[in-house]
Amino acid sequence: MSEAADLAPIREAVRVLCADFPGDYWRRLDRERAYPAEFVAALTKAGFLAALIPEQYGGSGLTMTAAAAIMEEIQASGCNGAACHAQMYTMGTVLRHGSAAQKERYLPGIARGELRLQAFGVTEPTSGTDTLSLRTTAIRDGDHYVVNGQKIWTSRAEYSDLMLLLARTTPREQAKSRTAGLSVFIVDMRQAKNDGLTIRPIRTMMNHATTEVFFENMRVPAENLIGNEGEGFRYIISGMNAERILIAAECIGDAKWFIDRASSYARDRVVFGRPIGQNQGVQFPIARAYIGMRAAELMVREAAALYEAGKDCGAEANMAKHLAAEASWAAADMCVQTHGGFGFAEEFDIERKFRETRLYTVAPISTNLILSYVAEHVLGLPRSY
Ligand SMILES: Cc1cc2nc3c(=O)[nH]c(=O)nc-3n(C[C@H](O)[C@H](O)[C@H](O)COP(=O)(O)OP(=O)(O)OC[C@H]3O[C@@H](n4cnc5c(N)ncnc54)[C@H](O)[C@@H]3O)c2cc1C
Repeated sequence: MSEAADLAPIREAVRVLCADFPGDYWRRLDRERAYPAEFVAALTKAGFLAALIPEQYGGSGLTMTAAAAIMEEIQASGCNGAACHAQMYTMGTVLRHGSAAQKERYLPGIARGELRLQAFGVTEPTSGTDTLSLRTTAIRDGDHYVVNGQKIWTSRAEYSDLMLLLARTTPREQAKSRTAGLSVFIVDMRQAKNDGLTIRPIRTMMNHATTEVFFENMRVPAENLIGNEGEGFRYIISGMNAERILIAAECIGDAKWFIDRASSYARDRVVFGRPIGQNQGVQFPIARAYIGMRAAELMVREAAALYEAGKDCGAEANMAKHLAAEASWAAADMCVQTHGGFGFAEEFDIERKFRETRLYTVAPISTNLILSYVAEHVLGLPRSY
């Protein structure tokens, strides 16, 4: 499956933008655990983060394939789109399930980058992957909901104006079904920060600006409820395919970066009087990583094409994410090995990218959960949890 040639200008434009943010920029941020504010501002100004917002709301109205190409090029250029990828897809919940008034209120500001919808509050310390057992509650009180509870791993909360929050509005035992009773809210964190919302950064092995978030009697206006009360789980799930495809594209970009770095090092580095890449023991792992990346790339393209055609792409989006995350990790490991000791040196950027790409087989969904999905929904095997 080949990609439309008209994406070449977008890819080139992303590459040109990324060239202004070379390795030393990312190394400094990595050391300081700082947020890439200048990089995010440049992507926003260029309109890349508004790729999926329809033109009627001021976005670029691009296809999923184009959005995936943007994320892939960012990573393939050695940059890190994880600092802002949520701005591209989190708004999908508002777009698909929000009221006309909510779309008018939020989407144009998000498209212009004036409103940052970067925070996604789903995971909790006790529920983990088992989203349906989350404990944060939102109880209706007049024209507000009162929120109490805690989220963990809420990335970019300090660099976001709005948060998409999933909370329980009906106790589990009273809910109509296993998946009912959860609701989605848009939380304006600018107001909430001094009034019931506390954000605490978590130091992680790579900077993902991730945090713990605490809610103590935080009041959210009832008009910020997205769609119908109690149907929030379905709304969150409906956004997962877009997220999977875009994250998979990031992994493809990472894999391309590692393969490119390893190939050029293997051509140039001379040991025992010949380039190390002349040894099949060095060139075969690079070739293997390339083959794995290309196979994953085909699945990403198929998932994106199905998504664009409005067809069910749950299986393909999950498989694309799985294959791409495995491919980027395999390429990362190969790249370190190809570089020998220099693979560990900060100035080569490989150890940083190695840490960054390790995340993708765990978050935003772990490998086991994808395998469970395919086993149950594609192969008809019994549900395991
Ligand atoms: C850097 C970072 C950023 C993140 N950003 C966000 C964010 O912005 N918003 C958000 O809501 N979440 C975020 N997450 C959370 C992320 O989605 C979860 O970490 C991930 O879904 C796994 O959940 P957990 O860590 O609770 O693992 P657990 O659910 O505790 O699982 C631990 C391990 O057990 C496995 N496991 C659990 N149950 C089963 C089962 N039934 N069968 C087989 N294996 C099983 C899992 O696959 C995993 O490998 C982030 C995480 C990280 C590390």
